[in-house]
Amino acid sequence: MATAKKPPTRRPRSPKPAPAAATCGTCAGSGETTTTIRVGRKRREIAATQTGLCPDCLGTGTA
Ligand SMILES: [Zn+2]
Repeated sequence: MATAKKPPTRRPRSPKPAPAAATCGTCAGSGETTTTIRVGRKRREIAATQTGLCPDCLGTGTA
């Protein structure tokens, strides 16, 4: 059985995309998320919202 010699494969160095340059999709780049406040045992929504730190980007706006 003749084994064919494989030429050494060279991996071309591919440029990586710039890290942390994309806008966070959860907060749309603002770094904050708006949550509707729920009250009571039935978790009724009231007409109020509070802003919190985005859990995905932790306030940086980029993810
Ligand atoms: Zn975010």
